[in-house]
Amino acid sequence: MSRHSPSAIIRADSPPGHVAPGDTITSKLRIGFGEDSHRTEPGGPLRLGGVDVPHDRQLVGHSDGDVLLHAVTDALLGAAALPDIGRLFPNTDTANRNRDSAEMLALAAHKVAEAGYQVVNLDCVIQAERPKLSDYHDAIRHRIAGILHLNPHDVGLKAKTGEGVGPVGTGDVIEARCVALVESTGESTVEA
Ligand SMILES: [Zn+2]
Repeated sequence: MSRHSPSAIIRADSPPGHVAPGDTITSKLRIGFGEDSHRTEPGGPLRLGGVDVPHDRQLVGHSDGDVLLHAVTDALLGAAALPDIGRLFPNTDTANRNRDSAEMLALAAHKVAEAGYQVVNLDCVIQAERPKLSDYHDAIRHRIAGILHLNPHDVGLKAKTGEGVGPVGTGDVIEARCVALVESTGESTVEA
């Protein structure tokens, strides 16, 4: 393999980490992963993915507790290797008390764009025993797409239950996970 090939190809029989000095990995794609969980308490509605879902419980958090938007935020920040949501919006800052997570996600997306990345697509999973989310599935996808100026087709969402097991299964906790793919625009306005 030429050291001057456009990208360093690591072959299956290459020893781990075998990239010769001077070789560069030139992929413009990067992946990020976000995960979050919040407790629920009696109340409502349930703010999930920026949508108010009618329910007799609500999420508890320093901000509005929107567990799905927090996972999306961390996935995007992670893809750009930026500080995570807890460092960007510390709970020691009273400005973040009851803060709208959609606003936090929009700010994080702005930082990701400033770092030179545009979002390609997201795929998300919510784990909630209740309520049934099928009626809100598309509204949540469209809401997240709207915040991020994406096509709803680029926002995947799956809702699962906890099968009655553990804190998710009792309805005391809701969890969310998200992977995000971003692509370098080559136009970073910040120093690495
Ligand atoms: Zn959170």
